[in-house]
Amino acid sequence: MRILVVEDELTLAAQLAEGIKSVGYVVDVAHNGVDGHFMGETEPYDAVVLDIGLPQMDGITVLKKWRAAGRTLPVLILTARDTWREKVAGIDAGADDYLTKPFHMEELLARLRALIRRAGGHASTELVCGPLTLDTRSSRVSVDGTALTLTSHEYRVLAYLMHHPGEIVSRAELSEHIYAQDFDRDSNTVEVFIARLRKKLPPGLIETVRGLGYRLNKAQ
Ligand code: CA
Repeated sequence: MRILVVEDELTLAAQLAEGIKSVGYVVDVAHNGVDGHFMGETEPYDAVVLDIGLPQMDGITVLKKWRAAGRTLPVLILTARDTWREKVAGIDAGADDYLTKPFHMEELLARLRALIRRAGGHASTELVCGPLTLDTRSSRVSVDGTALTLTSHEYRVLAYLMHHPGEIVSRAELSEHIYAQDFDRDSNTVEVFIARLRKKLPPGLIETVRGLGYRLNKAQ
């Protein structure tokens, strides 16, 4: 899962990035509205944390532009204290949720998890696919109740597939969601992670769809 943080306060932006990375997501950060808008328009983020008070282009305008362009990505806005009008404007502009500064990182992470789950049509904090269970609160995967030991890349690949069970996911799509923007992406490495995952998972769980990508087999 790949998250965009648009926040001009450098300390807060760094804290957000660190907190979000700590639960197994990858993060890109923009420090003004123009960069943030561009990144959200051109990269396939799984969710966005968007400050409202931003230089160059305010968060409400950024959000309105995304929505006008048909971008449906989940957006959580950050508002200043005692600014209920910002919240109303943000929700009217298409925000999916909001948090008022200052906030606790745990609450932000819980809200992000919920947004990502709902975007994938998952109601529960635990995603289940055959013998696999992903506990989105602890970022842990288990097979028939036994915890799997995964590297961070293996976890990101499997978590993305588990958010899209039964769907064909291409190598390019996977690499777009497991690496941050500044990372030298190579979709060939996705194959390596898939091969390693297959050694750790029951056979047949990750199918190769020739020429198209991979599919997490729901039927098992
Ligand atoms: Ca700000």
